[in-house]
Amino acid sequence: MSVQDPYATLGVARSASPDEIKSAYRKLARQYHPDVNPNNPEAEEKFKEISQAYAILGDPEKKARFDQFGSVEDTGFGGGQGDFFQGGGFGDLFEAFFGGQQAQPRARGGARDGDDLRAEAVIELVDVLEGKEVPVKFRKAARCETCSGSGTSDGSKPTTCSECQGRGSVTAVRQTMIGSIRTSTPCPKCRGEGITIENPCSTCRGEGVTPVQEELFVTIPPGIDGGQTLRVQGKGSDGIRGGSNGDLYVVVHVAEDKRFIREGRNLGTEVEITYAQAAIGDVIAVEGLTENLELNIEPGTQPGDTFRIKNQGLPRIGGGTRGDLFVEAKIVVPKKTSQAEANLLKEYSELRGEPVPQGPGKSANIFEKIFKRK
Ligand SMILES: [Zn+2]
Ligand SMILES: [Zn+2]
Repeated sequence: MSVQDPYATLGVARSASPDEIKSAYRKLARQYHPDVNPNNPEAEEKFKEISQAYAILGDPEKKARFDQFGSVEDTGFGGGQGDFFQGGGFGDLFEAFFGGQQAQPRARGGARDGDDLRAEAVIELVDVLEGKEVPVKFRKAARCETCSGSGTSDGSKPTTCSECQGRGSVTAVRQTMIGSIRTSTPCPKCRGEGITIENPCSTCRGEGVTPVQEELFVTIPPGIDGGQTLRVQGKGSDGIRGGSNGDLYVVVHVAEDKRFIREGRNLGTEVEITYAQAAIGDVIAVEGLTENLELNIEPGTQPGDTFRIKNQGLPRIGGGTRGDLFVEAKIVVPKKTSQAEANLLKEYSELRGEPVPQGPGKSANIFEKIFKRK
């Protein structure tokens, strides 16, 4: 969710003064505040938009940036609803206006979900053909083996937090400039988990998890593109006390193969042929991804002509028919010629009625030569 035009959202002119902006915001915030509109998702959405708009226009720096670039993308306020209520970029706003973040933790008897993690994998271009199982290393928070994630020692049980009675949140009513606001914040004593550990496990100090180095074999599917991310469900950090495991996101890099350039499913390569091969035609070997391939050079092939070898590219993601290999002909001119070779080339030129080359520095007059050629 992002506000397209904060001026329109707050209903103020672009020339509005800071006081006018603030006043418009307060009026709308009072009207749409969730406490005034319980169980009204539309009002809640509107309230968020208003708050977002004011987060931009109420901040001179962000307002200037919006005025200049006409965008809020770069303001660090592009977060979704989750960020909003968990204080992602709006913490300061709620801090300023409501005296606390609008976090609504729901304690689940101490259950804590594991974090999602990110790891990287590198494969060769040739592995894109059939996919590959690769080892991926990363650090994760693993369920403590000593206490099986309970965080307690000697098999004792966590107790219900006395501060929040296990709810995980504490509420407070505050007087603010837009009226009295009920705020709900994570319980400071139990950090929102709803439990207290009286006798913490000595291995994990009551955290229930310990950091470990993990190595996991991940199956990279055929046809993957460099930079694509695979999600491995449940392989992130461990959840504890009934919480679910996080996921592992593996960013796949495909190493450069100097022989080929890749464009989606197709591959491109170059092959050197001689002037004689280009003129007369030939059958040559071309290096394919996994094996040498036969390529028919047509008579009269010109420099830069491209041949297509079907089904020698890469498959679509997940497999299937391969793309094609495009081979560009590079015609190589000999760097040196012997006297006998030069004589044959001159003879050949004469036979074709072409200018007969005399060698560098031998022609009498370059302009005369151009003239004669015509
Ligand atoms: Zn508590
Ligand atoms: Zn432990």
